[in-house]
Amino acid sequence: MSLPPLASGPDGPSALRPLLATVLDALHEGARARGGPLPAGGPTAVAARVRDAVGDVLPEKGDPDAVRALVRALAEGAADPADPLCAAHLHCPPLAVATAADLAASSLNPSLDSWDQAPAASELETLVTHALAQEVYADTGAPQAKTATALVTTGGTEANQLALLLAREAHGTVRLVCGANAHHSLTRAAWLLALPQPVVLPTPRGTLDPAALHAALTDLVGPRGPVLVAATAGTTDAGLIDPLPALADLCAAHGARLHIDAAYGGGLLFSDRHRALLTGLERAHTVTLDLHKLGWQPVAAGLLAVRDPHDLHALHHRADYLNADDDTDAGLPDLLGRSLRTTRRPDILKIAVTLKTLGRTGLGTLVDEVCTLAQEFADLLAAHPAFELHAPPTISTVLFRPTGASDDTVAAVRRTLLNDGRAVLGRARLDGRLWLKATLLNPHTRPGDLAALLNLVEGSTPR
Ligand SMILES: *Cc1c(COP(=O)(O)O)cnc(C)c1O
Repeated sequence: MSLPPLASGPDGPSALRPLLATVLDALHEGARARGGPLPAGGPTAVAARVRDAVGDVLPEKGDPDAVRALVRALAEGAADPADPLCAAHLHCPPLAVATAADLAASSLNPSLDSWDQAPAASELETLVTHALAQEVYADTGAPQAKTATALVTTGGTEANQLALLLAREAHGTVRLVCGANAHHSLTRAAWLLALPQPVVLPTPRGTLDPAALHAALTDLVGPRGPVLVAATAGTTDAGLIDPLPALADLCAAHGARLHIDAAYGGGLLFSDRHRALLTGLERAHTVTLDLHKLGWQPVAAGLLAVRDPHDLHALHHRADYLNADDDTDAGLPDLLGRSLRTTRRPDILKIAVTLKTLGRTGLGTLVDEVCTLAQEFADLLAAHPAFELHAPPTISTVLFRPTGASDDTVAAVRRTLLNDGRAVLGRARLDGRLWLKATLLNPHTRPGDLAALLNLVEGSTPR
Protein backbone atom coordinates (compact mmCIF):
# COMPACT_ATOMS: atom_id res chain seq x y z
CA MET A 1 0.00 0.00 0.00
CA SER A 2 1.40 3.43 -0.84
CA LEU A 3 1.35 6.03 1.91
CA PRO A 4 0.17 9.59 1.19
CA PRO A 5 3.03 12.04 0.45
CA LEU A 6 4.24 14.59 2.99
CA ALA A 7 4.42 18.37 2.59
CA SER A 8 7.94 18.93 3.87
CA GLY A 9 11.19 17.10 3.34
CA PRO A 10 13.05 16.84 0.03
CA ASP A 11 10.00 15.45 -1.78
CA GLY A 12 7.52 17.88 -0.21
CA PRO A 13 7.60 20.54 -2.92
CA SER A 14 7.12 18.06 -5.76
CA ALA A 15 4.25 16.39 -3.91
CA LEU A 16 2.65 19.78 -3.32
CA ARG A 17 2.96 21.17 -6.82
CA PRO A 18 0.22 19.09 -8.53
CA LEU A 19 -2.00 19.41 -5.45
CA LEU A 20 -1.60 23.18 -5.56
CA ALA A 21 -2.59 23.23 -9.20
CA THR A 22 -5.73 21.29 -8.21
CA VAL A 23 -6.45 23.65 -5.31
CA LEU A 24 -5.99 26.75 -7.46
CA ASP A 25 -8.28 25.35 -10.17
CA ALA A 26 -10.89 24.47 -7.55
CA LEU A 27 -10.71 27.97 -6.06
CA HIS A 28 -11.22 29.41 -9.50
CA GLU A 29 -14.15 27.13 -10.33
CA GLY A 30 -15.81 27.72 -6.96
CA ALA A 31 -15.55 31.49 -7.25
CA ARG A 32 -17.01 31.36 -10.77
CA ALA A 33 -19.91 29.21 -9.63
CA ARG A 34 -20.66 31.67 -6.83
CA GLY A 35 -20.50 34.69 -9.12
CA GLY A 36 -20.81 37.28 -6.37
CA PRO A 37 -19.68 38.28 -2.90
CA LEU A 38 -21.76 35.63 -1.13
CA PRO A 39 -23.45 32.36 -2.16
CA ALA A 40 -27.08 32.91 -3.11
CA GLY A 41 -30.03 31.36 -1.33
CA GLY A 42 -29.22 31.85 2.32
CA PRO A 43 -28.19 29.30 4.96
CA THR A 44 -30.52 26.46 3.88
CA ALA A 45 -29.46 26.48 0.24
CA VAL A 46 -25.77 26.84 1.12
CA ALA A 47 -25.92 24.03 3.67
CA ALA A 48 -27.61 21.74 1.15
CA ARG A 49 -24.92 22.39 -1.47
CA VAL A 50 -22.17 21.77 1.07
CA ARG A 51 -23.78 18.51 2.24
CA ASP A 52 -24.07 17.38 -1.37
CA ALA A 53 -20.45 18.15 -2.12
CA VAL A 54 -19.13 16.52 1.06
CA GLY A 55 -21.20 13.36 1.05
CA ASP A 56 -19.75 10.85 3.51
CA VAL A 57 -17.44 12.77 5.86
CA LEU A 58 -15.37 9.73 6.80
CA PRO A 59 -15.86 7.13 4.06
CA GLU A 60 -14.54 3.62 4.55
CA LYS A 61 -12.36 3.99 1.45
CA GLY A 62 -10.69 7.34 0.79
CA ASP A 63 -11.45 9.61 -2.15
CA PRO A 64 -8.46 11.16 -3.97
CA ASP A 65 -10.76 13.81 -5.46
CA ALA A 66 -11.69 15.14 -2.01
CA VAL A 67 -9.33 18.12 -2.05
CA ARG A 68 -10.77 19.37 -5.34
CA ALA A 69 -14.38 18.76 -4.33
CA LEU A 70 -14.15 20.29 -0.87
CA VAL A 71 -12.07 23.32 -1.88
CA ARG A 72 -14.47 23.97 -4.72
CA ALA A 73 -17.46 23.69 -2.37
CA LEU A 74 -15.86 26.00 0.17
CA ALA A 75 -15.00 28.57 -2.50
CA GLU A 76 -18.47 28.40 -4.01
CA GLY A 77 -19.98 28.94 -0.57
CA ALA A 78 -17.55 31.59 0.60
CA ALA A 79 -18.12 35.18 1.61
CA ASP A 80 -15.35 36.68 -0.50
CA PRO A 81 -13.74 39.77 1.04
CA ALA A 82 -11.98 40.39 -2.28
CA ASP A 83 -15.37 41.18 -3.83
CA PRO A 84 -15.92 44.94 -3.61
CA LEU A 85 -19.50 44.35 -2.47
CA CYS A 86 -18.40 42.25 0.50
CA ALA A 87 -17.91 44.96 3.10
CA ALA A 88 -19.66 43.98 6.31
CA HIS A 89 -16.95 43.23 8.80
CA LEU A 90 -13.32 43.82 9.66
CA HIS A 91 -12.74 40.87 7.38
CA CYS A 92 -10.00 41.74 4.93
CA PRO A 93 -9.05 40.22 1.60
CA PRO A 94 -5.65 38.63 2.30
CA LEU A 95 -2.67 39.60 0.17
CA ALA A 96 -1.55 36.92 -2.28
CA VAL A 97 2.02 37.14 -1.01
CA ALA A 98 0.92 36.66 2.60
CA THR A 99 -1.18 33.64 1.66
CA ALA A 100 1.73 32.16 -0.29
CA ALA A 101 3.93 32.60 2.77
CA ASP A 102 1.27 30.90 4.87
CA LEU A 103 1.55 27.88 2.61
CA ALA A 104 5.22 27.65 3.56
CA ALA A 105 4.21 27.89 7.23
CA SER A 106 1.83 24.95 6.78
CA SER A 107 4.39 22.98 4.86
CA LEU A 108 7.30 23.45 7.27
CA ASN A 109 4.96 23.30 10.26
CA PRO A 110 7.22 24.89 12.86
CA SER A 111 5.69 25.08 16.31
CA LEU A 112 6.58 28.07 18.43
CA ASP A 113 6.55 26.34 21.82
CA SER A 114 10.17 25.23 21.78
CA TRP A 115 13.33 26.14 19.92
CA ASP A 116 13.88 22.59 18.69
CA GLN A 117 10.59 22.76 16.76
CA ALA A 118 11.16 26.22 15.31
CA PRO A 119 14.81 27.28 15.25
CA ALA A 120 14.50 29.93 12.51
CA ALA A 121 10.82 30.76 13.02
CA SER A 122 11.45 31.62 16.68
CA GLU A 123 14.22 34.05 15.74
CA LEU A 124 12.02 35.58 13.03
CA GLU A 125 9.28 36.05 15.61
CA THR A 126 11.72 37.78 17.96
CA LEU A 127 12.85 40.17 15.22
CA VAL A 128 9.44 41.02 13.83
CA THR A 129 7.61 41.39 17.15
CA HIS A 130 10.37 43.70 18.34
CA ALA A 131 10.12 45.79 15.18
CA LEU A 132 6.31 46.03 15.44
CA ALA A 133 6.54 47.01 19.10
CA GLN A 134 8.92 49.79 18.05
CA GLU A 135 6.27 51.02 15.61
CA VAL A 136 3.95 51.47 18.57
CA TYR A 137 6.39 52.74 21.17
CA ALA A 138 9.34 54.31 19.31
CA ASP A 139 7.85 57.81 19.34
CA THR A 140 8.02 57.96 23.13
CA GLY A 141 11.79 58.44 23.09
CA ALA A 142 11.58 56.81 26.53
CA PRO A 143 14.34 54.30 27.25
CA GLN A 144 11.83 51.49 27.71
CA ALA A 145 10.70 51.95 24.10
CA LYS A 146 13.74 50.00 22.95
CA THR A 147 12.87 46.94 25.02
CA ALA A 148 9.17 46.96 24.18
CA THR A 149 8.04 43.69 22.68
CA ALA A 150 4.94 42.03 21.28
CA LEU A 151 3.27 38.66 21.65
CA VAL A 152 1.68 36.91 18.70
CA THR A 153 -1.97 36.06 19.25
CA THR A 154 -4.87 34.55 17.35
CA GLY A 155 -6.42 38.00 17.12
CA GLY A 156 -7.75 40.92 19.09
CA THR A 157 -9.73 38.71 21.43
CA GLU A 158 -6.70 36.79 22.69
CA ALA A 159 -4.62 39.99 22.78
CA ASN A 160 -7.25 41.70 24.95
CA GLN A 161 -7.39 38.67 27.24
CA LEU A 162 -3.62 38.75 27.66
CA ALA A 163 -3.71 42.49 28.36
CA LEU A 164 -6.15 41.92 31.22
CA LEU A 165 -4.13 38.99 32.50
CA LEU A 166 -0.87 40.98 32.49
CA ALA A 167 -2.63 43.85 34.29
CA ARG A 168 -4.00 41.50 36.92
CA GLU A 169 -0.60 39.90 37.46
CA ALA A 170 1.05 43.32 37.77
CA HIS A 171 -1.44 44.49 40.42
CA GLY A 172 -2.76 41.36 42.11
CA THR A 173 -6.23 42.21 40.92
CA VAL A 174 -7.62 44.82 38.59
CA ARG A 175 -10.99 46.29 37.69
CA LEU A 176 -11.66 46.91 34.02
CA VAL A 177 -13.07 50.31 33.11
CA CYS A 178 -14.06 50.75 29.49
CA GLY A 179 -16.62 52.46 27.31
CA ALA A 180 -19.78 50.91 25.97
CA ASN A 181 -18.02 51.30 22.62
CA ALA A 182 -15.31 48.79 23.62
CA HIS A 183 -15.07 45.38 22.02
CA HIS A 184 -17.12 42.66 23.73
CA SER A 185 -13.99 40.54 24.21
CA LEU A 186 -12.80 42.88 26.97
CA THR A 187 -15.70 42.35 29.37
CA ARG A 188 -15.67 38.69 28.40
CA ALA A 189 -11.98 38.46 29.35
CA ALA A 190 -12.80 40.06 32.71
CA TRP A 191 -15.39 37.32 33.21
CA LEU A 192 -12.95 34.63 32.12
CA LEU A 193 -10.30 35.87 34.54
CA ALA A 194 -12.87 36.26 37.35
CA LEU A 195 -11.97 39.95 37.75
CA PRO A 196 -14.22 42.35 39.67
CA GLN A 197 -17.34 43.48 37.79
CA PRO A 198 -16.19 45.82 34.98
CA VAL A 199 -17.38 49.40 34.91
CA VAL A 200 -18.76 50.16 31.46
CA LEU A 201 -19.19 53.87 30.83
CA PRO A 202 -21.92 55.02 28.43
CA THR A 203 -20.54 56.46 25.18
CA PRO A 204 -23.45 58.41 23.73
CA ARG A 205 -21.19 60.09 21.16
CA GLY A 206 -19.46 56.87 20.23
CA THR A 207 -16.18 57.49 22.07
CA LEU A 208 -15.08 57.39 25.68
CA ASP A 209 -15.65 60.80 27.26
CA PRO A 210 -12.69 62.04 29.38
CA ALA A 211 -15.05 63.76 31.85
CA ALA A 212 -16.92 60.49 32.41
CA LEU A 213 -13.65 58.61 32.84
CA HIS A 214 -12.38 61.23 35.28
CA ALA A 215 -15.50 60.82 37.40
CA ALA A 216 -15.24 57.02 37.31
CA LEU A 217 -11.55 57.01 38.22
CA THR A 218 -12.11 59.48 41.05
CA ASP A 219 -14.73 57.14 42.42
CA LEU A 220 -12.84 53.89 41.84
CA VAL A 221 -9.08 54.23 42.11
CA GLY A 222 -7.70 53.70 45.59
CA PRO A 223 -10.76 52.83 47.62
CA ARG A 224 -11.80 50.05 45.26
CA GLY A 225 -8.43 48.72 44.11
CA PRO A 226 -6.34 48.98 40.97
CA VAL A 227 -7.95 49.88 37.67
CA LEU A 228 -7.23 49.02 34.05
CA VAL A 229 -8.69 51.47 31.58
CA ALA A 230 -9.27 50.02 28.12
CA ALA A 231 -9.59 52.59 25.36
CA THR A 232 -10.32 51.83 21.72
CA ALA A 233 -8.49 53.05 18.62
CA GLY A 234 -10.97 52.10 15.92
CA THR A 235 -14.28 50.91 17.29
CA THR A 236 -15.69 47.81 15.66
CA ASP A 237 -19.04 49.45 14.91
CA ALA A 238 -18.01 52.86 13.65
CA GLY A 239 -14.23 53.01 13.38
CA LEU A 240 -14.07 55.80 15.96
CA ILE A 241 -10.94 56.55 17.97
CA ASP A 242 -11.20 57.44 21.65
CA PRO A 243 -9.41 60.68 22.65
CA LEU A 244 -6.21 58.81 23.51
CA PRO A 245 -3.99 61.66 24.83
CA ALA A 246 -6.69 62.92 27.21
CA LEU A 247 -7.44 59.40 28.42
CA ALA A 248 -3.72 58.69 28.90
CA ASP A 249 -3.37 61.92 30.95
CA LEU A 250 -6.24 60.81 33.19
CA CYS A 251 -4.77 57.34 33.69
CA ALA A 252 -1.41 58.87 34.61
CA ALA A 253 -3.03 61.34 37.02
CA HIS A 254 -5.11 58.64 38.73
CA GLY A 255 -2.50 55.89 38.69
CA ALA A 256 -4.59 53.65 36.46
CA ARG A 257 -3.09 51.25 33.97
CA LEU A 258 -3.95 51.85 30.29
CA HIS A 259 -4.65 49.32 27.56
CA ILE A 260 -5.53 50.47 24.05
CA ASP A 261 -7.40 48.12 21.77
CA ALA A 262 -6.14 49.12 18.33
CA ALA A 263 -7.25 45.89 16.66
CA TYR A 264 -8.75 47.97 13.86
CA GLY A 265 -6.92 51.32 14.01
CA GLY A 266 -3.44 49.89 14.59
CA GLY A 267 -2.86 49.61 10.84
CA LEU A 268 -2.89 53.42 10.62
CA LEU A 269 0.65 53.27 12.06
CA PHE A 270 1.89 52.39 8.57
CA SER A 271 0.43 55.52 6.98
CA ASP A 272 2.23 58.86 7.12
CA ARG A 273 -1.07 60.52 6.32
CA HIS A 274 -3.11 58.87 9.08
CA ARG A 275 -0.61 57.92 11.77
CA ALA A 276 -1.27 61.07 13.77
CA LEU A 277 -4.76 59.76 14.55
CA LEU A 278 -3.01 57.31 16.89
CA THR A 279 -1.15 59.93 18.92
CA GLY A 280 -1.21 58.73 22.52
CA LEU A 281 -1.06 55.04 21.58
CA GLU A 282 2.53 54.93 22.87
CA ARG A 283 1.33 55.86 26.35
CA ALA A 284 -0.52 52.58 26.86
CA HIS A 285 1.01 49.75 28.88
CA THR A 286 -0.32 47.31 26.30
CA VAL A 287 -1.74 47.69 22.79
CA THR A 288 -3.81 45.21 20.80
CA LEU A 289 -3.03 45.01 17.08
CA ASP A 290 -4.72 42.82 14.53
CA LEU A 291 -3.08 42.49 11.14
CA HIS A 292 -5.93 40.36 9.80
CA LYS A 293 -7.86 43.64 9.68
CA LEU A 294 -5.95 46.70 8.38
CA GLY A 295 -2.95 44.49 7.59
CA TRP A 296 -4.36 42.26 4.85
CA GLN A 297 -3.24 39.00 6.45
CA PRO A 298 -5.02 35.66 6.31
CA VAL A 299 -6.41 34.83 9.76
CA ALA A 300 -4.76 34.67 12.27
CA ALA A 301 -2.45 37.62 12.75
CA GLY A 302 -3.02 39.24 16.14
CA LEU A 303 -0.46 40.90 18.39
CA LEU A 304 -0.26 42.36 21.84
CA ALA A 305 2.43 45.05 22.13
CA VAL A 306 3.81 45.27 25.66
CA ARG A 307 5.76 48.36 26.70
CA ASP A 308 7.53 46.87 29.71
CA PRO A 309 8.89 43.37 29.03
CA HIS A 310 8.98 42.73 32.79
CA ASP A 311 5.21 42.36 32.54
CA LEU A 312 5.84 39.13 30.64
CA HIS A 313 7.33 37.41 33.71
CA ALA A 314 3.74 36.61 34.59
CA LEU A 315 3.63 34.22 31.63
CA HIS A 316 6.80 32.38 32.62
CA HIS A 317 6.10 28.67 32.73
CA ARG A 318 8.22 25.55 32.98
CA ALA A 319 7.59 22.24 31.24
CA ASP A 320 10.61 19.99 31.34
CA TYR A 321 10.14 18.61 27.83
CA LEU A 322 10.00 22.10 26.30
CA ASN A 323 12.21 24.41 28.36
CA ALA A 324 14.16 22.53 31.03
CA ASP A 325 16.31 24.82 33.19
CA ASP A 326 19.53 23.18 32.05
CA ASP A 327 18.53 23.60 28.38
CA THR A 328 17.77 27.25 29.00
CA ASP A 329 21.03 27.71 30.91
CA ALA A 330 22.86 26.09 28.01
CA GLY A 331 21.44 28.74 25.66
CA LEU A 332 18.34 27.21 24.12
CA PRO A 333 15.74 30.00 23.84
CA ASP A 334 12.74 29.60 26.15
CA LEU A 335 9.61 30.22 24.09
CA LEU A 336 6.90 29.00 26.43
CA GLY A 337 6.48 32.35 28.17
CA ARG A 338 5.44 34.11 24.93
CA SER A 339 1.94 32.70 24.89
CA LEU A 340 -0.67 30.79 26.87
CA ARG A 341 -0.86 28.40 23.97
CA THR A 342 1.56 25.49 23.59
CA THR A 343 1.67 24.34 19.95
CA ARG A 344 1.57 27.53 17.94
CA ARG A 345 1.68 28.28 14.19
CA PRO A 346 4.37 30.58 12.80
CA ASP A 347 1.88 33.33 11.92
CA ILE A 348 4.86 35.66 12.00
CA LEU A 349 6.12 34.38 8.62
CA LYS A 350 3.30 35.83 6.52
CA ILE A 351 3.50 39.06 8.54
CA ALA A 352 7.28 39.30 8.01
CA VAL A 353 6.93 38.59 4.30
CA THR A 354 4.24 41.25 3.97
CA LEU A 355 6.17 43.93 5.86
CA LYS A 356 9.28 43.34 3.78
CA THR A 357 7.56 42.90 0.42
CA LEU A 358 5.40 46.02 0.67
CA GLY A 359 7.52 48.12 2.97
CA ARG A 360 6.05 50.90 5.07
CA THR A 361 5.15 52.80 1.89
CA GLY A 362 3.30 49.90 0.33
CA LEU A 363 1.29 49.16 3.46
CA GLY A 364 0.65 52.85 4.05
CA THR A 365 -0.70 53.14 0.50
CA LEU A 366 -3.19 50.34 1.15
CA VAL A 367 -4.33 52.07 4.35
CA ASP A 368 -4.67 55.42 2.58
CA GLU A 369 -6.54 53.77 -0.27
CA VAL A 370 -9.28 52.27 1.93
CA CYS A 371 -9.59 55.47 3.97
CA THR A 372 -10.05 57.43 0.73
CA LEU A 373 -12.67 54.94 -0.46
CA ALA A 374 -14.59 55.41 2.77
CA GLN A 375 -14.48 59.17 2.27
CA GLU A 376 -15.72 58.81 -1.32
CA PHE A 377 -18.52 56.52 -0.20
CA ALA A 378 -19.53 59.00 2.48
CA ASP A 379 -19.54 61.80 -0.11
CA LEU A 380 -21.82 59.73 -2.35
CA LEU A 381 -24.19 59.12 0.55
CA ALA A 382 -24.21 62.73 1.69
CA ALA A 383 -25.20 63.83 -1.82
CA HIS A 384 -27.88 61.15 -2.23
CA PRO A 385 -31.44 62.07 -1.18
CA ALA A 386 -32.41 58.42 -0.62
CA PHE A 387 -29.78 57.94 2.08
CA GLU A 388 -28.75 59.34 5.40
CA LEU A 389 -25.05 59.31 6.34
CA HIS A 390 -24.27 58.81 10.02
CA ALA A 391 -21.01 60.78 10.09
CA PRO A 392 -17.87 61.34 8.05
CA PRO A 393 -15.61 58.30 8.48
CA THR A 394 -12.60 58.34 10.82
CA ILE A 395 -10.97 55.23 9.36
CA SER A 396 -12.76 53.14 6.71
CA THR A 397 -16.18 52.43 8.22
CA VAL A 398 -19.26 54.20 6.89
CA LEU A 399 -22.67 53.96 8.58
CA PHE A 400 -25.75 54.87 6.60
CA ARG A 401 -29.45 54.09 6.27
CA PRO A 402 -32.21 54.61 3.72
CA THR A 403 -33.83 57.96 4.49
CA GLY A 404 -36.94 57.58 6.63
CA ALA A 405 -36.64 53.79 6.97
CA SER A 406 -37.57 52.03 10.20
CA ASP A 407 -35.00 49.89 12.02
CA ASP A 408 -36.90 46.80 10.87
CA THR A 409 -36.56 47.92 7.27
CA VAL A 410 -32.83 48.54 7.68
CA ALA A 411 -32.40 45.03 9.11
CA ALA A 412 -34.54 43.50 6.37
CA VAL A 413 -32.60 45.24 3.58
CA ARG A 414 -29.37 43.76 4.91
CA ARG A 415 -30.86 40.28 5.05
CA THR A 416 -32.36 40.55 1.56
CA LEU A 417 -28.95 41.38 0.11
CA LEU A 418 -27.36 38.52 2.07
CA ASN A 419 -29.98 36.10 0.95
CA ASP A 420 -29.59 37.07 -2.70
CA GLY A 421 -25.81 36.91 -2.34
CA ARG A 422 -25.53 40.32 -3.97
CA ALA A 423 -23.90 42.41 -1.23
CA VAL A 424 -22.60 41.85 2.28
CA LEU A 425 -23.17 44.79 4.61
CA GLY A 426 -22.93 44.88 8.39
CA ARG A 427 -25.21 46.48 10.93
CA ALA A 428 -24.56 48.71 13.91
CA ARG A 429 -26.81 50.31 16.51
CA LEU A 430 -25.75 53.88 17.20
CA ASP A 431 -27.58 56.91 18.57
CA GLY A 432 -30.53 54.62 19.28
CA ARG A 433 -31.01 53.64 15.63
CA LEU A 434 -29.96 50.77 13.42
CA TRP A 435 -27.52 51.57 10.59
CA LEU A 436 -26.12 49.69 7.66
CA LYS A 437 -22.37 49.37 8.01
CA ALA A 438 -19.84 49.31 5.18
CA THR A 439 -16.34 48.43 6.36
CA LEU A 440 -14.08 49.19 3.42
CA LEU A 441 -10.95 47.05 3.58
CA ASN A 442 -10.49 46.19 -0.08
CA PRO A 443 -7.96 48.52 -1.70
CA HIS A 444 -8.97 47.24 -5.14
CA THR A 445 -12.51 48.57 -4.78
CA ARG A 446 -13.27 51.36 -7.26
CA PRO A 447 -15.68 54.28 -6.89
CA GLY A 448 -17.97 52.61 -9.47
CA ASP A 449 -18.32 49.63 -7.11
CA LEU A 450 -19.49 51.94 -4.35
CA ALA A 451 -22.11 53.48 -6.63
CA ALA A 452 -23.25 49.96 -7.58
CA LEU A 453 -23.52 49.08 -3.89
CA LEU A 454 -25.78 52.07 -3.28
CA ASN A 455 -27.94 51.14 -6.25
CA LEU A 456 -28.35 47.65 -4.87
CA VAL A 457 -29.34 48.93 -1.44
CA GLU A 458 -31.76 51.42 -2.94
CA GLY A 459 -33.29 48.72 -5.15
CA SER A 460 -33.75 46.43 -2.13
CA THR A 461 -35.42 49.04 0.05
CA PRO A 462 -39.22 48.81 0.05
CA ARG A 463 -40.92 52.16 -0.52
C1 LIG B 1 -12.05 42.71 15.73
C2 LIG B 1 -11.83 43.35 17.03
C3 LIG B 1 -11.42 42.62 18.14
C4 LIG B 1 -11.37 41.12 18.12
O1 LIG B 1 -10.39 40.64 17.28
P1 LIG B 1 -10.44 39.12 16.74
O2 LIG B 1 -9.27 39.10 15.84
O3 LIG B 1 -11.76 38.97 16.07
O4 LIG B 1 -10.29 38.24 17.92
C5 LIG B 1 -11.10 43.30 19.29
N1 LIG B 1 -11.23 44.63 19.35
C6 LIG B 1 -11.65 45.37 18.33
C7 LIG B 1 -11.77 46.86 18.47
C8 LIG B 1 -11.98 44.76 17.12
O5 LIG B 1 -12.45 45.49 16.11
